[in-house]
Amino acid sequence: MSFQNNENKKWANENFWGLSYDFDPQWDLTSEQKIIQTKLIQLCESNLRKNAIESDRNLIYPRKNFEALASIGLLGLIIPKEFGGMGENHTCATMVVETIARYGCASTAMCYVMHIAALSAILLRHHNNACIKNLLSKINNEVLIGTVSYSDPETGSHFWYHLSSKCEKTDNGWQIYKKSSWTTSGGFADWYVTQTTSPDFKGDYSDLSCFLIWKNEVKTNPATWDGLGLRGNQSGPLEINGVEISKDRMIGPIGDGAQSNDEAVDPFFLLCSSACWNGIAMGMIDIAKNHTTKKKHNDVGMRVADYPTIQDYIGECIIETNASRSFNFHQAKALDQKTENCDWSIHNDIQTLPRTQMLHWLWQLKFSCAKNVAKVSDKMLHTCGGTGYKPELGIERYLRDAKAGWVMGPTNEVLRQLVGKYALFGKESLDYWNQNINERVIYNEIKKMDNKTKKEFAEKILKEIS
Ligand SMILES: Cc1cc2nc3c(=O)[nH]c(=O)nc-3n(C[C@H](O)[C@H](O)[C@H](O)COP(=O)(O)OP(=O)(O)OC[C@H]3O[C@@H](n4cnc5c(N)ncnc54)[C@H](O)[C@@H]3O)c2cc1C
Repeated sequence: MSFQNNENKKWANENFWGLSYDFDPQWDLTSEQKIIQTKLIQLCESNLRKNAIESDRNLIYPRKNFEALASIGLLGLIIPKEFGGMGENHTCATMVVETIARYGCASTAMCYVMHIAALSAILLRHHNNACIKNLLSKINNEVLIGTVSYSDPETGSHFWYHLSSKCEKTDNGWQIYKKSSWTTSGGFADWYVTQTTSPDFKGDYSDLSCFLIWKNEVKTNPATWDGLGLRGNQSGPLEINGVEISKDRMIGPIGDGAQSNDEAVDPFFLLCSSACWNGIAMGMIDIAKNHTTKKKHNDVGMRVADYPTIQDYIGECIIETNASRSFNFHQAKALDQKTENCDWSIHNDIQTLPRTQMLHWLWQLKFSCAKNVAKVSDKMLHTCGGTGYKPELGIERYLRDAKAGWVMGPTNEVLRQLVGKYALFGKESLDYWNQNINERVIYNEIKKMDNKTKKEFAEKILKEIS
């Protein structure tokens, strides 16, 4: 019986030194997508992987890698063909991000995830917007990198809650005020999708609107960026200080922010960042295979890989990572099915929001991939021993990159709580914008008060409303 895959994975002119296609779910890809994958692995070998070392060491933004990706059309991966894009789907986006992270550069993969998330926001609402259509037609040819600037310094990982931003209506359009605590590609991207409270804001923080901002309109200070891993990703703070923009730079209608999050930015971020964590996990297993099958202990005449303990580590990490990858591709296929293969014309009807129904599945996906990569990075370090602890092997860089998975918003703490709460009390209980009153807590605290304290408390409240 043969389990062998007939395709050979190449690295320059040799067979690839890590795991072969026997351990990749190639059946999920169309023949066109396999051609993209082959070209991309070649590009990783010739360009991206070398630049990853430089980016990590010297905190260099991977623009060179984006130029390489554009050379095979990948900046327009999900842009419809009518705008010069590749018209590809969620499955292909998953494969591309995983491939960049695994064979090339994890920082580039994360910047690319944010580019795809930003693209999804403008594609969702491009139909009646000439400014967005014009941008879409230039993105790949002119290497115009996009990103998403949401996280607010006052609300931490609750990146959907914008306390430090606002938008005012002007005669010709909008005036934008925004403070972001993190923005991948900050100061290096050519265009930004950002979110503020809506122009007619009356205290309801769920009333959000989205905007397209050009690079000369944001204030960043890339020199201050530093981080444990993903060091090329340059996710620094960003400000937009009362910049006036034209009407057509609102993405979608006033108040479309929450829908845009649930239908575009979140689904694409969760799907593709999960692929980044899976790519990092596979990349580490590749390195560990290569190292442990070559390194020999001459006293016992064994290679490191000959120890059953090492075989167990490798086996368990492949099994668990392939469970995460299967989940990833399964979700991508579900999104393809629901969106007629990522056809953006379905959103001509503004109320068509099929990805939104999948959000709680995508939360589960990001949680499990980010959790898995943390474990795999630990185990692959153990597998390679002290040699893995030193930068030369590449395990050490991947291990630091992998740490971003758990803490990137939505953080894994937030995700497991959202999933648990949804399952226990229903979707309405999620309360993203802190609007539901928890009467159980109020009455429990009041129960502890004597009559005098109750009276003082009541007077305090009455004063607040008078
Ligand atoms: C490499 C990297 C790139 C990033 N790129 C971008 C980007 O391009 N755009 C962007 O908008 N943002 C980006 N972010 C920001 C990210 O999405 C989060 O906003 C950020 O990581 C949160 O950090 P914090 O210190 O504010 O965490 P905090 O929110 O202060 O969290 C501290 C702890 O509290 C926990 N916690 C928070 N809320 C809850 C809760 N409700 N229940 C239980 N526990 C909770 C957290 O899980 C964590 O353990 C990036 C972050 C990283 C690390």
